[in-house]
Amino acid sequence: MVSIARGEASYLIGHDGRRYLDMIGSWWTCLFGHSHPPLVAALKAQLDQLDHVLLAGFTHEPAVELAEALIACAPAGLSRVFYADNGSSATDAALKMALHYWRNLGRERKQRFICLSNSYHGETVGALAVSDVALYREHYGPLLFSPLIVTTPDRYEQPPDLDTEAWVARCVAELAQTLEQHGQDVAAMIVEPLVQCAGGMRMYPESYLRHARRLCSEHEVLLIVDEIAVGMARTGKMWGSSHAQISPDLLLTSKALTGGFLPLAAVLAGEHIYQAFYAEYQTRRAFLHSHSYSGNPIACRAAVTTLNLLKAPEFADAHAARCARMQRSVASFADLPHVADTRSQGFIGAIELAADVSTKRPFAWQERRGLRVYRHGLEHGVLLRPLGNVVYFFPPYGLSEEEFQHAEHVARAGILLAVAD
Ligand SMILES: *Cc1c(COP(=O)(O)O)cnc(C)c1O
Repeated sequence: MVSIARGEASYLIGHDGRRYLDMIGSWWTCLFGHSHPPLVAALKAQLDQLDHVLLAGFTHEPAVELAEALIACAPAGLSRVFYADNGSSATDAALKMALHYWRNLGRERKQRFICLSNSYHGETVGALAVSDVALYREHYGPLLFSPLIVTTPDRYEQPPDLDTEAWVARCVAELAQTLEQHGQDVAAMIVEPLVQCAGGMRMYPESYLRHARRLCSEHEVLLIVDEIAVGMARTGKMWGSSHAQISPDLLLTSKALTGGFLPLAAVLAGEHIYQAFYAEYQTRRAFLHSHSYSGNPIACRAAVTTLNLLKAPEFADAHAARCARMQRSVASFADLPHVADTRSQGFIGAIELAADVSTKRPFAWQERRGLRVYRHGLEHGVLLRPLGNVVYFFPPYGLSEEEFQHAEHVARAGILLAVAD
């Protein structure tokens, strides 16, 4: 166990004074850097103003400002904001909202959900039910409802005899068939746009999202995009769904929403969703979901400040350069032994190791190759925490060139160690 005393920009600093370069952004939360001064200042001011108030019949300035700021930068058509206090509970809220939406429209049959293979939407019971990561699902099966799982056009899984377009077309056809067969019973489809982070930073083409949007509309199925990991410009654009220029019915955001300072989540909804619930109390159509700390003012202040920093004119240029740097970085790992794939999307980079590069036969999980990279990283002051056989970079945006080079150097040596023997 590593005990951390302080955070400072890209570094976590232990009680023993050891410094760890946080190349995974403390699980995809840390956005600009640790204890980022503009966020610290905004939060200090907020602490003197208002700590917390229930968000039922009451509201407050940071909650209103944040809702307005989110809608201003959201995909077109999203006009309402519902707060939760972590990613998984936002997923659960969206699933409940989708089901309840159809009930309110008299479509009670619509109770099922579609998710993608290798998906991850959180670990509360509802979120876990629409997650297809065997490791997390295994023990809790009896608690979980069964979604319809359709194949993700994962570039790494692309069959060798198909080009990308044909691979996407095959997966789109499978989705179309599933909707054809079950659409009447489906409330919503949930997807992680472009990158399945917990699933091993696996990436798929944006064209799939456009097809999914079209097919969901045709079959009267809501589309939920889970931007919890990839929002806040992580993929190069504000949202993963921005790349496909689609508007989902519901959008989830959390993790780096507060710059990585505090837990907070928001479910953004289209006006049609809101209107289906907005009615006299006696009609009993209201959405029933609340958490004690929903829309906490300090967390909302952190998020408002984060969105302002992302909007600053100097951010966009620096960010484009940063994403290009990431692409070059992972490409430089391609010639190492046992590297079966290198891929990047925005400021996410991944290097996938395999026992046999030509067939992509993975290293058995029992061999724990990734753990060797993790340990080597810690010994050399870099926090890398591979997902199985996938070494990845998901660093804070404030990472300097020198820090990046140090991380690359340590990752390269760690990979060489991990694949030896
Ligand atoms: C992390 C994550 C969640 C769950 O968020 P928590 O705040 O950890 O509960 C949901 N969806 C995606 C895509 C995530 O990466």
